[in-house]
Amino acid sequence: MTTLRRALSHIEDDETTTQDSVNEGQVLYKLHKYRERNRKIVEDKKKAVMKATGRLACEVCGFDFFQTYGPLGADFIECHHTKPLATYKAGEKTKLADLAVVCSNCHRMTDARFIS
Ligand SMILES: [Zn+2]
Ligand SMILES: [Zn+2]
Repeated sequence: MTTLRRALSHIEDDETTTQDSVNEGQVLYKLHKYRERNRKIVEDKKKAVMKATGRLACEVCGFDFFQTYGPLGADFIECHHTKPLATYKAGEKTKLADLAVVCSNCHRMTDARFIS
């Protein structure tokens, strides 16, 4: 875990993490955010969802940024990484199926409860 923690130390914490988290939880949380920031796979996921459904609606609540905000919300949705990071083998890559498109509210709530 020490090597992994060092490798991840450059990732900024832009989310408030709880003080009572154990170290492993912090590392997994950072890895989670790191994977969600992989632009290529996020863009690929959005394209795949758009192609399959014709819109980018939150998988949890159905919120559609374009529907509510018009052009400003076009193409906007966040990607949440659903695969438990503890199940990953070293070097294993994120697949489209490991990502869910979610609105910002649902993403916050999901990550706040994120454990593995
Ligand atoms: Zn939502
Ligand atoms: Zn997430």
